[in-house]
Amino acid sequence: MVLSPYDNDEFAEIREGVRRLCVEFPGTYWRTLDENRTYPTEFVRALTDAGYLSILIPEEYGGSGLGLSAAAAVLETIQAQGCNAAACHAQMYTMGTILRHGSEEQKQAYLPKIASGELRLQAFGVTEPTSGTDTTALRTFAKRVNGDYVINGQKIWTSRAEHSDLMLLLARTTPRDKVAKKTDGLSTFIVDMRDVVGKSLTIRPIRTMMNHATTEIFFDNMHVPAANLLGEEGKGFRYILSGMNAERVLIASECVGDAKWFTRTAVQYANERQVFGRMIGANQGIQFPIAKAYAQMRAAELMVKEAARLYEDGKDIGAEANMAKMLAADAAWEAANVCLQTHGGFGFAEEYDVERKLRETRLYQVAPISTNLILSFLAEHVLGLPRSY
Ligand SMILES: Cc1cc2nc3c(=O)[nH]c(=O)nc-3n(C[C@H](O)[C@H](O)[C@H](O)COP(=O)(O)OP(=O)(O)OC[C@H]3O[C@@H](n4cnc5c(N)ncnc54)[C@H](O)[C@@H]3O)c2cc1C
Repeated sequence: MVLSPYDNDEFAEIREGVRRLCVEFPGTYWRTLDENRTYPTEFVRALTDAGYLSILIPEEYGGSGLGLSAAAAVLETIQAQGCNAAACHAQMYTMGTILRHGSEEQKQAYLPKIASGELRLQAFGVTEPTSGTDTTALRTFAKRVNGDYVINGQKIWTSRAEHSDLMLLLARTTPRDKVAKKTDGLSTFIVDMRDVVGKSLTIRPIRTMMNHATTEIFFDNMHVPAANLLGEEGKGFRYILSGMNAERVLIASECVGDAKWFTRTAVQYANERQVFGRMIGANQGIQFPIAKAYAQMRAAELMVKEAARLYEDGKDIGAEANMAKMLAADAAWEAANVCLQTHGGFGFAEEYDVERKLRETRLYQVAPISTNLILSFLAEHVLGLPRSY
């Protein structure tokens, strides 16, 4: 079932390749992982080997050198096939920060190995337990000592830390009360976790309502070579922020993929299930919610396309990236709810994958940025209303 003209866009070949790969990883695969809370190593390996996870890495470093729209097509297709890109999407959304702000030495050192799969860059350490969404209040501190930075502090929700070699880390290098603007004095590092894990870096898994491999991590005098500082010291917040816009577009594309999976699954079931001597899909009470969720998905999809296009044109996409993320996460959640309702009691049975996908897609109304903060951004920065916090 073709759910959108964009399914046949200029990335149709990529979508078809990803779709074929995903067929090898059916619902039974994801259900077993979900039950045991294990990481989809084989799936991530297959995506890496096929070159899909290095789509944003320039060709001279071993990638495909394509843009955000191509990456979005990959992630959307993974979700639309019932798989879960959460295991590996960070490699795509951290890439912009490294490409834009990394030195030539850093790119040479890491990108070819990330492209070949020798190194995984899947961990992104920003959120802290005390600061939450108020990122500039983070406390993890990196102190320059000779040729190293010595890092102390804690992060929470650092997803995939146990399954990644590298982490992109945001830490304070100048105390908040010593900078003119609170967004100053934060720096970004590429941390090679292989050197420090189990020593000055402790990783503790957090079990959540879905299989997300998320953790809390603790730094105890963790040494990172000064050569691993990205760009200039004190400017890391800006580097991370530009990457976060790409992240929002990519997560939004995953939500569009989820909404497509829920819509297709609901339609299939509605066309099969017979109650009162006819298929339930013949009832408007079943049809209309599916049709409405479909329309919402298509609207969100347009905003995702717009945001990706503007990003590729080098424009500031703060508003579009936020709107795309919010609309797509809402559309996915609505489609999930409708799909569950269409299935009646069977929607609750694990073997239909509906409840698993519903749990997985719920995250995106909270992470990587929650809906309230998106609305605050639009109110203040687009509409000129007073800052509310
Ligand atoms: C499974 C999972 C994986 C994650 N992975 C990562 C990761 O890999 N790396 C990483 O750095 N982070 C990660 N996160 C963190 C995620 O980005 C944050 O949870 C999210 O940004 C919200 O922050 P918080 O949980 O601290 O909520 P808080 O900031 O404590 O907010 C709590 C609630 O209050 C609301 N709120 C707060 N301030 C305001 C305000 N001024 N006005 C109105 N409402 C407000 C928020 O919208 C939210 O609903 C992950 C989170 C989860 C749950």
